Amino acid sequence: MTAITGETRMTDAAGAPRTHDHPHEHAAVPVAPASSRLVPVPMTDVRIVDGFWAQRQAVNASATFAHALHWMERLGWIGNFDLAAAGDPPPRAGREFADSEIYKLMEGLAWEVARTGDAWAEETFRALTARVVAAQSPDGYLSTRFGGPGQAARYSDLEWGHELYCAGHLIQAAVARLRTAGEDDLTRAARRVADHIVAEFGPDGRDAVCGHPEIEVALAELSRATGDDRYRAQAALFVERRGAGRLRDAEIGSEYFQDDVPVRDATVLRGHAVRALYLSAGAYDVAIDGGDDALRAAVEGQWDATVARRTYLTGGMGSRHEGESFGDDFELPSDRAYSETCAGIASVMLSWRLLLQSGDARHADLMERTLYNVVATGPDEAGTAFFYVNPLARTVPGTPTSADEPSARAASSQRAPWFEVSCCPTNIARTVASLGAYVATVDDGGLQLHQYASSEIATRLPDGSAVRLAVRTGYPVDGAVEIEVLEAPVRAWDLTVRIPGWGAGATIESNGVRRAVEPGYVVAASGLAAGAIVRLELPIAPRITLPDPRIDAVRHTAAVEAGPLVYCLESVDAGTEELARLRLDPTVPPRRGEGDTVEVLVADEAIPGAPWPYGPDGSASPAGREPLMLVPYHRWAERGPSTMRVWLPLPEQPAGH
Ligand SMILES: [Zn+2]
Repeated sequence: MTAITGETRMTDAAGAPRTHDHPHEHAAVPVAPASSRLVPVPMTDVRIVDGFWAQRQAVNASATFAHALHWMERLGWIGNFDLAAAGDPPPRAGREFADSEIYKLMEGLAWEVARTGDAWAEETFRALTARVVAAQSPDGYLSTRFGGPGQAARYSDLEWGHELYCAGHLIQAAVARLRTAGEDDLTRAARRVADHIVAEFGPDGRDAVCGHPEIEVALAELSRATGDDRYRAQAALFVERRGAGRLRDAEIGSEYFQDDVPVRDATVLRGHAVRALYLSAGAYDVAIDGGDDALRAAVEGQWDATVARRTYLTGGMGSRHEGESFGDDFELPSDRAYSETCAGIASVMLSWRLLLQSGDARHADLMERTLYNVVATGPDEAGTAFFYVNPLARTVPGTPTSADEPSARAASSQRAPWFEVSCCPTNIARTVASLGAYVATVDDGGLQLHQYASSEIATRLPDGSAVRLAVRTGYPVDGAVEIEVLEAPVRAWDLTVRIPGWGAGATIESNGVRRAVEPGYVVAASGLAAGAIVRLELPIAPRITLPDPRIDAVRHTAAVEAGPLVYCLESVDAGTEELARLRLDPTVPPRRGEGDTVEVLVADEAIPGAPWPYGPDGSASPAGREPLMLVPYHRWAERGPSTMRVWLPLPEQPAGH
């Protein structure tokens, strides 16, 4: 419904969507499909200069990288490479996937060097490279966990060993480096790893897959970055092999590994959420580059079904702690939500790939929702403590985490400085550093703005003509977005903007004319010359959102959103930890409070204590209504232990209604 239409000149004369071929793309982008409807813009062409994401990029740069480095040095995870290089026997530090955290940090550093040219980031990247490559075996194999003296044999535990998963993250770091700085020791080492994997797991090699998908999406992108099709073919082979029960069945079931049903036959995402989403991203990449329309349609259908039935209001995915997995349809409990930060990041990865092909605003909408309400929720303000899981309610205040001890993964109810399983902090680091890549795209017809941030965009359309824009906005707390054209093609071109799904009532002003526009992609103006200014006004007044009645866990509740932000009530603002007794008055529209807060009216209905919590009459005693402050969900728990709710109970229906 919201797909970019011919109006944007994204179709050719015959009306068929025109795709752009850009093989072996060396631009600084995380994803460069062999062909796509929208062409990704290098992250180096987009400078986010102020506001919500600029602040987070600054914190990421100044605090998160060094924090992650400190912890991984201290815990010996980086030292594992030194031990492996020296051929020392165990003990090795950390979990079986610890290598991947160093690689994700390196990927983040590579993007950061490209973004800012930061000398410390470059120096750190090189220092880590030296230690990593020293651990590589002469035949290309690289792992600190397997194959060394006193260690289990290579590929002896594909279900749980994470060997190819780790290799995948090394390859992703190398792709980031290759596209931003060119070949170096890390990119050469990663290619040798990839060559080793192709030799080992190719058509005539081991007929196996890794328990944790990741190698697929990594090899597909390496193929794009190097022009070597063997890597794409290997990624495609891994995708095809999955779903036939090759992984020895875990107690938890083969669905956990997505090894229950072939990717092309599955109808919805299931099992471990991060695995399912990484696998889908890789499957989509090989489908696009290989022209596999059936596989492509399968992934698109899985995205649709998963978004419609298995996704939280925040964009969070994964509702079961057991197996960190998706639940059944509409099984979306707030308090037991898993919604791992990494699953949010993986969802952004998948949606971006779909958006480049579809030009469908729903894909960018979910990215925005997930970025603001899952990815931004992960780190604290200082960028040195993190949520692993992101529930939508907490009924007891959490306990502060130790600043000095790694937390057990999902156990912490407060952000923790580090985890035994610490996938999320480094995933945030690499994502935040590369955010500029997701702001805009181009096509033959012009430029599309997908995400709103005060930014400077200086890029080229596919025909080489230069476009320069300055975007100024206080989004997401302010709905006004001003886009100034600094340099424009001499030929006809369109400036296209995204009106989010919640944005009915938005207006665009250009050439002195203001007009109302509908959600979806809209041509804001055509043929703008340098000096022209377009003003977009997005309706970010707070609004009440109701859940699908099939989501039993939040029946008869409502949430408050404003713009892309989901709001929550915290006990530090409520005056009680028992938030369930506060009933939202839906007849009084929520209104903006101070700063980014929202004010709502609630009735405090004291709930009588009872020895048995069930009975014929659940009525509580109503009390007067009072205003209460809600805060954006992304900054909950910033003020110490608190109870919290996103979904607020509604008043009981009067009898007879
Ligand atoms: Zn994680």
